[in-house]
Amino acid sequence: MTVTLKHIDFSEFDLIIIGGGCAGLSLSLALLHFGYKGKVLVVERRKQYQHDRTWSGWFSQTDLALLPNLSKRTFASWSIANDSSQYSHTSNAFPYYSISSEDFYTHALQKINASQTVQLVTGTSLSSHDLMAMTQSRVIDTVGLGIEVTRPRYGLWQSFVGVMVSSSSPIFDMKTQSHAMLMADMSQDDKGFFFTYIIPQNSRQALVEVTYFTTQVLAADYLTECSTQAAHRFIQHQQAFSDHQIMTMPIEHGHLPMWEISKQSTHDHITLAGNISGALRSSSGYGFATIQRWAQETAQTLSSSEPLPGTPLVKPRYYSRWIQWMDNIFLIVLVRYPAQSQTIFLQMAKALKGDEFALFMSHRASLSIWVKVIMAMPKWPFIKAVWRSWLD
Ligand SMILES: Cc1cc2nc3c(=O)[nH]c(=O)nc-3n(C[C@H](O)[C@H](O)[C@H](O)COP(=O)(O)OP(=O)(O)OC[C@H]3O[C@@H](n4cnc5c(N)ncnc54)[C@H](O)[C@@H]3O)c2cc1C
Repeated sequence: MTVTLKHIDFSEFDLIIIGGGCAGLSLSLALLHFGYKGKVLVVERRKQYQHDRTWSGWFSQTDLALLPNLSKRTFASWSIANDSSQYSHTSNAFPYYSISSEDFYTHALQKINASQTVQLVTGTSLSSHDLMAMTQSRVIDTVGLGIEVTRPRYGLWQSFVGVMVSSSSPIFDMKTQSHAMLMADMSQDDKGFFFTYIIPQNSRQALVEVTYFTTQVLAADYLTECSTQAAHRFIQHQQAFSDHQIMTMPIEHGHLPMWEISKQSTHDHITLAGNISGALRSSSGYGFATIQRWAQETAQTLSSSEPLPGTPLVKPRYYSRWIQWMDNIFLIVLVRYPAQSQTIFLQMAKALKGDEFALFMSHRASLSIWVKVIMAMPKWPFIKAVWRSWLD
């Protein structure tokens, strides 16, 4: 059910979720799925939902368990390349998926509107601390992260603007070609390491995103220009004839922190979740699958007991200490030895088969996969980074 904020008595709700983005809506869907008995209020700042991002990654069946009817694009192969080398992977067991936020928001809003348990208020900003003055209900704060967080010495911003490029003539055969270019044209300039990410959407459209790993917050105009130029180059390369028309439109914009976010709530009744509490994997900027798993686990916990107002939830731990430590080392190397970035990604792609790469990227790697990755890395930068991590 969608309601307005007027006359809402916050104390009527057993659970208040601030932020109806990926984490807030995923948790709502999971609570409905697991039959949570309490009353839930979701408060969202935006007035209307529009397509603002595409969530891609190597999602497991468990990650997608509550989204069976949501349309997903599936890519059985992907590649990583610079101007002299290219490594392509294929995995039918662990394909790369892509989900449009528009489809996700529509799906979640339909479920919420049809429910008696979850109410959504849009167009309203709330701070969890203001809310504590009004209610003792349990609060889950999922307001996301902007550029207000301070980048640590060994952190990078992942900065990109994605443009949708549309061609007047078909450029992909979607029946036979399901290939994602995860890192094309890897290169380096004074702003940092960058590459182009290209995900076909249908036979005439592709998402094209020049992505920087950088210490600066880059201007959106600059990133839009980079992605637009890359989109034109890509389409020209694809098409055998020249009478096509191309349109590009910016559709998503990200400045994702690549470092460990460890914001803590100062109040027992408030739990931070989603990006604001470290759901993004620092080495990759992927967070969708992790948020799905957190939402399912949290909803199961909440649904297995009677709603008790104000009972604190355990702070989520999204990644093991081992993954966080390895990601920290990796980031020290990227910050201190940016010229090694291309080698690192190419060597990793070369060392792993498609299934192994997918498992590694989705934090499901076995010890043998970790060993392969470690053995493939340039040794001195990593040894020095381990040393540096002990010194700092
Ligand atoms: C453009 C982009 C592309 C991405 N692509 C991928 C990808 O391909 N794969 C992947 O795994 N991850 C991806 N991510 C990373 C991550 O999955 C997303 O950022 C994800 O949306 C994080 O979920 P969240 O709920 O923490 O934050 P958000 O989805 O940003 O949700 C936060 C919500 O809180 C609302 N809000 C903010 N302040 C308030 C307030 N004071 N009161 C009420 N509401 C408030 C916002 O309007 C927003 O709806 C991407 C991120 C971005 C920005």
